[in-house]
Amino acid sequence: MNVAWKRIAAVAVVMLLLMGMMKLELTDGGGAMAHAHAQGTAAPDIEADNAVTKRPNAAITAAQAGIASSLVQAYGNVRTIPAAMPTAAETPADPNASAAPKIASTPNTSAVPEAKVQEAASSKLASNVPDKVVYLTFDDGPSKWTPEVLDLLAKYKVKATFFVLGQSAERAPEVVKRIVREGHGLGNHTYNHKYEELYHSFMGFWTQVKKTDDILTRLTGKQVTLLRAPGGTYTNFDAFYFQYLGEAGFRIMDWNVDSGDSKRSNVPAEEIIRMVKQTKLAKEVTLLLHDGAGHEQSVKALPAIIEYYKAKGYRFAVMNEETKPVTFRFGADKWHKAWTPSLHQQAEAAVTAFQREHGWMPLREWLVGKGTVAWDAKAHEAVVELADTTTFRLIPAGGQAVKVAGTPGESNGKLSFKITHNQFYVLKTA
Ligand SMILES: [Zn+2]
Repeated sequence: MNVAWKRIAAVAVVMLLLMGMMKLELTDGGGAMAHAHAQGTAAPDIEADNAVTKRPNAAITAAQAGIASSLVQAYGNVRTIPAAMPTAAETPADPNASAAPKIASTPNTSAVPEAKVQEAASSKLASNVPDKVVYLTFDDGPSKWTPEVLDLLAKYKVKATFFVLGQSAERAPEVVKRIVREGHGLGNHTYNHKYEELYHSFMGFWTQVKKTDDILTRLTGKQVTLLRAPGGTYTNFDAFYFQYLGEAGFRIMDWNVDSGDSKRSNVPAEEIIRMVKQTKLAKEVTLLLHDGAGHEQSVKALPAIIEYYKAKGYRFAVMNEETKPVTFRFGADKWHKAWTPSLHQQAEAAVTAFQREHGWMPLREWLVGKGTVAWDAKAHEAVVELADTTTFRLIPAGGQAVKVAGTPGESNGKLSFKITHNQFYVLKTA
């Protein structure tokens, strides 16, 4: 029995490899610069796939909508969570942050027992991950509890990330500023958290994200690209949510450990602590906590949680643009969103306008009259040639970051680039 499974698993690994190569051929022809259409984010699938085949694969990347995070993978910045643990009752049915390898949107293609493949993937990954990291994340604030959370974090000298609601940020601007000033991460958690307004249609979600973005940009003086979906993405987001938010440059962050502090009101601190300690330890932990109204018990639980991870040898990291998104496995949209061509047009227009508002112009557009860009599939770099014969390469460096090699001619190296969802942008400098 055991041997039989191993053989099946081995065959499946070869199949995954072959399927990856097929995608490589399909997409090498400049596909990476093409506009990707929604196929779900599938990022966790790609990661697992990588782990099994152990080769850089910007090609599979190019075939996927989850382009940015996959590029991180392709460039060796491997920070994958080996195995995630759905914990509390509130956690959606099956939100494994790293699902077993599956080819995008064809679940159960192979007859491989999931556990076997996952095991193989995990052991490979484990050796690539140098240290243990915990991202403490606080949702639904700021509230009157947030300053207490900040005091505790300062006392323990650890950092966290706060996914704030626009309406709360409006009421407590000084707290938002303090979060940033003290070196913590800041993310967008929509304006009012009302599922009914967020998940029936993309523009409902977008309106709240945009409104919150305006508030946070005003308060912090810079673009806040981290985004957490109220309730998480699982069965709330459809593929187009991922696509358009990705195009807008948002980094969507679910979690892989739920402290259980919001599964009902006033979950006692002891229960929150127990829940955290019960969870199997992953190399990277993204812990869901809340600092919204009514979360006094989370504040009370925090010292023990910090001490627990410290004792286990974790370092406390802040989420930023370089942080690889932790995204739940894709699940069928339970809201049955109805898309029409006109809704897609609206979404595209909103996203493009948003990028421009933040000063980002599509690279191809910027290059009109200046030069050309081509995708070097082998090197996984974009090659930009300016009319004055200056050539430079844009190297996806992790997350949205892009490294520039060569001399970016006309602005003496002051050009700034980013990549979101297969699209390169250039920051228009004054
Ligand atoms: Zn929330």
